[in-house]
Amino acid sequence: MTTTQWHQRAAALGIDGRAFIGGERVWARSERQFDNRSPVDGRQLGFVARCDGADVDAAVAAARAAFEDRRWAGQAPAARKRTMIKFADLILAHADELALLETLDMGKPIKYSQSVDVPAAANCIRWYGEAVDKIYDQIAPTADTSLALVTREPVGVVAAIVPWNYPMIMAAWKIAPALAAGNSVILKPSEKSPLTALRLAEIALEAGLPAGVFNVVPGYGAEAGAALALHMDVDCIGFTGSTNVGKQILQMAGQSNLKRAWTELGGKSANIVCADCPDLDAAVSAAIGSIYFNQGESCNAPSRLFVEASIKDAFLEKALALVPDFAPGDPLDEATVMGAIVDAAQMKTVMGYIEQGKQAGARLLAGGAAARLDSGGFYIAPTLFDRVDGSMSIAREEIFGPVLSVLAFTDIDDAVRQANATRYGLQAAVWTADLSKAIKTARALRAGTVHVNQYDGDDITVPFGGVKQSGNGRDKSLHAFDKYTELKTTWIQIG
Ligand code: NAD
Repeated sequence: MTTTQWHQRAAALGIDGRAFIGGERVWARSERQFDNRSPVDGRQLGFVARCDGADVDAAVAAARAAFEDRRWAGQAPAARKRTMIKFADLILAHADELALLETLDMGKPIKYSQSVDVPAAANCIRWYGEAVDKIYDQIAPTADTSLALVTREPVGVVAAIVPWNYPMIMAAWKIAPALAAGNSVILKPSEKSPLTALRLAEIALEAGLPAGVFNVVPGYGAEAGAALALHMDVDCIGFTGSTNVGKQILQMAGQSNLKRAWTELGGKSANIVCADCPDLDAAVSAAIGSIYFNQGESCNAPSRLFVEASIKDAFLEKALALVPDFAPGDPLDEATVMGAIVDAAQMKTVMGYIEQGKQAGARLLAGGAAARLDSGGFYIAPTLFDRVDGSMSIAREEIFGPVLSVLAFTDIDDAVRQANATRYGLQAAVWTADLSKAIKTARALRAGTVHVNQYDGDDITVPFGGVKQSGNGRDKSLHAFDKYTELKTTWIQIG
């Protein structure tokens, strides 16, 4: 589609900001709404229900009723599978609409909403649907006189609280395993990007998911989010977001009913390029492409780049040649690879870090300024700092914007020491032709995922999550079922 056609579709789009509770679109009981503006051009998209505790109570009651009467949990896994697959098919049938909503709501290029976000969300839902009738329970190896069954049961009512950077994918990573396992779900999308979540709930209903099984309560974190985290009748919370809010979620779980709380949190991932890197061009391309993808608003963005001192100049020369390719453009232009920052607040945060980097004495080699100032939206030029040291805030804190910090190292032990000197532990990478060095480094790096000679390894079949203050638990893969199921042991006496 041409850029003009996308803009015409955007202008004609009707936005329904009502919550989705018990199979119906409803406004918040308080009748309060919040303004939903697009970071693409600052245009108002519409109003969204500002749910609070009363709406959360209604959603939890609907989810609990659906769980207790087993309208979904009681269906055979093969039947749930069919619904999940239909749900995935319908997402693909609405691909253009969902991609457009995602781009308008959070600013990412339409090219990636179409080629990454929509297909990945559909694939995730399909994958867990396909998996659920292929998983067997266990019989424990006990004595002849008894039979001990080890079975998995759905946890019950699951609350999913998700961020704005990949709204549909983050939602799918939670709701797909939770629903496939037979739970009822309440999804709280970010107040910055609620639109696709609301459409997903309608599409799920159309696919045959019974009313009440999947509810969506848009609203602010301190209102709708906290009401879910503190709720006495929510059995499990799947949270993705910042480390600071993740800590609050764990506290709220402890303050209330000790609900299971899973937290997928922030990152400051280290990308280590050794002098014996087998393909410097590939390393440069991955380093630059991965930090600027999604405007740098990715939890696993390799925002700390460690380059062995002897090759740093050569590396930077190649890197700087690629940076202009990521100049922000109109997100509704299919040629654009970097879009808008999600909102004014995030823009201010990122610009603040850039200023701190300059003040601290890092060398600004690219970007460092706002872009597309006449668009009405929020854009930042791809930014690269050299001569960063580990004490600077741009090396320590998650910026969540298109800002790369380059640090030097002397040998691999120095690189590992610097890479691990962070509170985060989401992902890391090492580039070397030496197999032993690669394996030793991968073992030494404290991260949930380590890449060797690449950075884009990603598949629904592998777990995703972090260590340290990047959180607990894992999304994706069959391991995600661990979060949304309880193990039950049943002892049967044999007479
Ligand atoms: P955030 O923590 O501000 O918000 C995340 C969600 O929590 C939102 O829905 C928000 O409304 C809600 N929330 C906020 N305060 C709350 C409260 N007091 N109680 C309950 N809910 C509350 O994070 P964000 O800015 O939306 O997202 C960016 C963060 O998410 C980054 O730190 C990023 O690294 C992280 N993230 C992690 C992963 C992962 O898999 N580890 C994936 C994507 C994003």
